[in-house]
Amino acid sequence: MYVKHSCDKRHWDTGGGLLLSDNPTSLNSTFAPAATYWGQYQEISNYNVNLNVAERLWAAWYAWMQNDVLATGIMSFAMHEIVYFGRSLPWFIIDSLGLFKQYKIQGNKVPSVREQWDCAKWVLLSHVTVELPQIWLFHPMAQFFGLSTSVPFPSVLTMAYQIAIFFVMEDAWHYWFHRALHYGPLYKAIHKIHHQYSAPFGLAAEYASPIEVMILGFGTVSCPIIWCAITGNLHILTMYVWIVLRLAQAIDAHSGYEFPWSLHHFLPFWAGADHHDLHHEKFIGNYSSSFRWWDYVLDTEYTPEALKRRRANPSSAKKAQ
Ligand SMILES: [Zn+2]
Ligand SMILES: [Zn+2]
Repeated sequence: MYVKHSCDKRHWDTGGGLLLSDNPTSLNSTFAPAATYWGQYQEISNYNVNLNVAERLWAAWYAWMQNDVLATGIMSFAMHEIVYFGRSLPWFIIDSLGLFKQYKIQGNKVPSVREQWDCAKWVLLSHVTVELPQIWLFHPMAQFFGLSTSVPFPSVLTMAYQIAIFFVMEDAWHYWFHRALHYGPLYKAIHKIHHQYSAPFGLAAEYASPIEVMILGFGTVSCPIIWCAITGNLHILTMYVWIVLRLAQAIDAHSGYEFPWSLHHFLPFWAGADHHDLHHEKFIGNYSSSFRWWDYVLDTEYTPEALKRRRANPSSAKKAQ
């Protein structure tokens, strides 16, 4: 279907989806630029009435920017910063005001405002110097592996099942590489920085060596890319939602708080803060990120129940190391 546009550029509907580009492998900046973002939004809205508001906002962003690498780069970096610091803020307030003390896992170790502020500055510096250049490479990489940026967006069901698969894949990646980072020389050279906080807090989730950020961050980015390389079916928005959820998971796992309403009470295989806080406190066991199954099956779990199991069967007692 030919979608009419006032500047008579061609935008083809392939199988019900509007591609904002003549070439499906290049992206959305083939709309003629409008003077303002909202002018572009209006222009797109006039001729694509079937798109919802989010889809129009998305299409207008790429069309207005006229530079796909920059458009994806700015969106990715802004999203990462907003989610990272936005999600950490409630934990910062809870720690600073001494709220929910009864649910603090290591109750005697509440981080000071100063400590959290220093950590936030370090993390921000690392985001700008280490993560920003990598985020800039994201668009060309996404393009190479065929991630879609077209509108309309995929269905919620498609996004949900793909994100569930990414959680399972990343958890496996994280388990093995995190466990490897606890091997003596690697621990000293790389992972020790992350373990500076034996009682973690939300902002400390990405407090780590740049090498660690690359190794473990690679799991978060490469799992969806591998999926896309195999199936050819992934929208960049699904990738964004996945990264938002993964960031929230990592920050919450470092929060230091275990509530009666925490997710693992309802999903027993979900790891959560209860699982990762012990890893920071004891320095061994509980290596996975989102789920408990790898640690359970390979007997590297560090929980009161696992310790009891090991006491009953001392031959497996050394495996948690
Ligand atoms: Zn560790
Ligand atoms: Zn940690």
